Amino acid sequence: MAGGKLVVPDHPVIPFIEGDGIGRDITGPSQKVLDAAVEKAYGEKRKLVWMEVLAGKKAFEQTGEYLPAPTLEAFREYLVGIKGPLETPVGGGIRSLNVALRQTLDLYVCMRPVRWFKGVPSPIRFPDRVDMHIFRENTEDIYAGIEFMAGSDKAEKLRRFMETELGVDQVRFPESSSYGVKPISREGSERLVRASIRYAIERKLPSVTLVHKGNIMKFTEGAFKNYGYDLAEREFPADTFTWRQYEKVKAEKGKAEADQLLEAAKKTHKVIIKDVITDAFLQESLLHPFDHSVIATMNLNGDYISDQLAAMVGGIGISPGANINYDSGYAIFEATHGTAPNIVGTGKANPGSLILSGVMMLEYLGWDEAAEHVYDALDHTFSKRRVTSDLHAQMEGATLLTTEEFAQEIIANMH
Ligand code: NAD
Repeated sequence: MAGGKLVVPDHPVIPFIEGDGIGRDITGPSQKVLDAAVEKAYGEKRKLVWMEVLAGKKAFEQTGEYLPAPTLEAFREYLVGIKGPLETPVGGGIRSLNVALRQTLDLYVCMRPVRWFKGVPSPIRFPDRVDMHIFRENTEDIYAGIEFMAGSDKAEKLRRFMETELGVDQVRFPESSSYGVKPISREGSERLVRASIRYAIERKLPSVTLVHKGNIMKFTEGAFKNYGYDLAEREFPADTFTWRQYEKVKAEKGKAEADQLLEAAKKTHKVIIKDVITDAFLQESLLHPFDHSVIATMNLNGDYISDQLAAMVGGIGISPGANINYDSGYAIFEATHGTAPNIVGTGKANPGSLILSGVMMLEYLGWDEAAEHVYDALDHTFSKRRVTSDLHAQMEGATLLTTEEFAQEIIANMH
């Protein structure tokens, strides 16, 4: 990183975790696709230098640890890496390897692009109009893991503290309730929203939607919305126009003037910052997906939204993701599905999710030409209905390919 920007050499070292289960089935084929795209775009000039680092079962078998220190050091040194799915070890004192990686490197954005490829089965009417980019906050919210089980000493202490010190009397069954804490901070909200607005500006995307349940959770989710608007108006006044500004002008000067300002903002390609309540958003995203471009939200909302939106464009086998710290530059791109123990070694695994995560990585490195080659080839491959078993089951007249054959087909379709 230099001056807040990633400096990318022509031969960057990319640490990769193969992953458990189908990780082994999809990693090699995915790397071949990415290598072919880079070669197509840049010839010999640029090349990804893959460096395997260990995590998960493979790491445990070889080193006795699920997440050995050299793996974390490699991600620290090389900044950008990629990983297959990891099984969550049962026992052994580690809650989740994915969570450990995110926390150690403070990867505060979970980024999920949602885009449809021609020919992929979709449950919605206009999948071709879906082009959304989810920025899910990754470190706060109810996911911080601050929970106290009903009946425990800590739950009891907390109950007494709330009743005596805070005057809380609205818990219906206080003695048998478990309690959870939902921290939402200004800093945590701002860095997430800042990253989402910068992304929209850089990619010339029309809007950022702040998704929240602030009508009910006023000081957590409602505060997130306000922090988001504050930040946009303070840090990006020339590049954004907010619904809050619109409402203010409307109240002071009337609707006609507010509408005029909004139209002018759209014409000059300012990013429109809006907000939608979570439940309405879940409907809206199905009915009018084209009204939303970048979505900035907190951890739990982001979890639900990511899966719904993934299902709209073909599901788990082809939805990519990344966990990113836009300040330090650390980024780990990942398949969003799990280890799929039921299909390991059968050739049924769809490498699409990992391939598209790799494409996100190429874009993050600024290698957009290589990324375009993969998008284009995927469009061709899906249009020809040559797919792996998960999509084959849902597509009429499709040809069934194995994991490796599917990857080779994509490479053959790079023009
Ligand atoms: P899963 O994603 O592994 O499987 C759910 C279903 O989707 C299965 O039927 C599976 O066969 C299918 N599937 C998943 N990926 C596929 C692909 N690429 N191609 C074709 N079909 C695919 O979810 P699960 O069964 O709930 O979890 C299994 C293990 O994975 C657990 O140990 C869980 O902790 C772990 N997990 C890891 C991650 C991660 O590393 N990011 C994410 C989710 C689950």
